[in-house]
Amino acid sequence: MAKQRALIIGGSVGGLFAANMLRSIGWDTTVFERNAEELSGRGAGISTHPQLHDATKRLGIPFDNSMGIAIDKVVFLDHDGHCYDARSTVRLMSSWGRVFRSVRDPIPDDNYRLGKSLVRVEQDASSVTAIFSDGTRERGDLLIGADGGRSTVRELFLPGQQPQYAGYVAWRAMLDERDVPPGIHAQLFANYTYCLPPGELFLAYPVPGRNNETQPGQRAYNIVWYRPTTPEKLADLCTDASGKCHGTSIPPPLLRPDVAAWSKAQARALVAPQVAEIFERDPRPFFQAIFDFISPQIVFGRVALLGDAAFLARPHPGAGTTKCAMDAEHLADSIAALGIETGLAKYQREQGAFGSGLVRQGQIDGSYISDQLKPREQRRNKDVSWAVDDLMRDHDGRSAQVQRILYESRRA
Ligand SMILES: Cc1cc2nc3c(=O)[nH]c(=O)nc-3n(C[C@H](O)[C@H](O)[C@H](O)COP(=O)(O)OP(=O)(O)OC[C@H]3O[C@@H](n4cnc5c(N)ncnc54)[C@H](O)[C@@H]3O)c2cc1C
Repeated sequence: MAKQRALIIGGSVGGLFAANMLRSIGWDTTVFERNAEELSGRGAGISTHPQLHDATKRLGIPFDNSMGIAIDKVVFLDHDGHCYDARSTVRLMSSWGRVFRSVRDPIPDDNYRLGKSLVRVEQDASSVTAIFSDGTRERGDLLIGADGGRSTVRELFLPGQQPQYAGYVAWRAMLDERDVPPGIHAQLFANYTYCLPPGELFLAYPVPGRNNETQPGQRAYNIVWYRPTTPEKLADLCTDASGKCHGTSIPPPLLRPDVAAWSKAQARALVAPQVAEIFERDPRPFFQAIFDFISPQIVFGRVALLGDAAFLARPHPGAGTTKCAMDAEHLADSIAALGIETGLAKYQREQGAFGSGLVRQGQIDGSYISDQLKPREQRRNKDVSWAVDDLMRDHDGRSAQVQRILYESRRA
C-alpha cells in the first residue's frame, strides 16, 4: 500500500518535528519552507524541558551534552554589579540552531524544499492540495501549517485573526565566548544571571556557539532583555533609515544605527555593568516584539496547525520549541491510533487545550512587564514584584508547570 503523504508548510523546528514524527509512523513527508536558503544560526538561546528531551530521544536523537550547556547556579546582580543573591538550579540551555540541526539532519534534502511559499490550500474528502507562489501544486493526505506566528495557513482558514501585541519587546544580544572579557567570564559565564531594572526583566546565560559548539572556549553568551514598549515606540524601532516602517518587526540588518546605539546606552544606564558590557559588545543587538494568540480552532478538514502557528505564547515558560515537539508527537500518535479524521479531532481537543494553557501561563508570567504601560490604577498585578523567591519558584518550576498544563489539558 502506498504511504500516506503529509505536506508540511514551514521548515523551522515545528515543521521538522512534525516531519520526523510522521516519518516514525510510516508516513511520507515533504517540508516546504519559503526561505530560499537553509535556515541557520538565528543565535537565539532557548530553555529546554524534559518533555523536549523525551521527544527527541524517541526520534533516536540523543539529548546529550552536545545539545546544550548545563547550568547549576543562578545569580542576581544589582545595578552596580554586586551579586545580592545566588541559588542552585538545574537547567540545560540550548539554542534554536542546535535543536534545528538535530531535527533537520534526519530529513533527506529531497523532502525539504526551500523557496516554496504557500499561498493557497484546496481540499476535498480524500486529499489536500498546497498551491505555492511559483504556481506549483502538491497533493497529499494531510497538510500541516507549521508556518509560525504569522501563519499563512491560519490566515486562510481564520482570516483577520491576528496575534495581539503584549506591550513589550525582547532585546537580544549574543557574544562569542572568546570575546567575553576574561574578568567577566570568570565571574559570570557559567551562571544564569538576572538583573531586575524596575518594570523590566534581563536574563543572560551561556548557550552553544554559532556552529552549535558546546566545548569551553567555543560557546556563546546570550542575553534576553524584556522591556515595556508603547506601540508608538515599537513603530519607531521598526522604522529603517529610509523612513520605511516594517510593521511590528524589522530585519536585524535594517535596525537604524541610532536605535542600536540607544539600546546600548539604555543597557549601560539600567543593568549591571558586566552584562551591559557584553550587550554593548554585540555589534548587532536586535529585538522581537512579544505577542499572544489563542487559536479558536487548529484543525480544518485535512489541515492542522502546529507550533507557533496554532498558539503564540509569550516566551517566559520557555516552552515554544517543547510545544512544537509535543504537538508533533501528539498528532502522529493520534493519527496512527485513530486514523486521520478521528485523530485530528483528538489533536484539536487536547493540543488545543494545552496550547491555550501555555498562552495563559505566558500572560500571567509577563503581566508585570505589560502592565507597566497601563495607568497605575488599572494594573492587575500592581503588587507583584520581582522578588527573588517568586522568580526562583517560577525558574525552577517551569518543567513542572508545562506538565501541569498538559495534565489539565487532558482532563478538559
Ligand atoms: C524572545 C524569545 C525567546 C524565546 N525563548 C524560548 C525558549 O527559551 N525556549 C523555547 O522552547 N522557545 C522559546 N521561544 C519560542 C520559539 O522560538 C518558538 O516557539 C519556535 O521557534 C516556534 O517554531 P515554529 O516552527 O512553530 O515557527 P517559526 O520558528 O516561526 O517557523 C515558521 C517557519 O515557517 C516559514 N513560513 C512562514 N510562512 C510560510 C509560507 N507561507 N510558506 C512556507 N513557509 C512559510 C518561515 O519562514 C519559518 O521558517 C522564544 C521566542 C522568543 C520570541
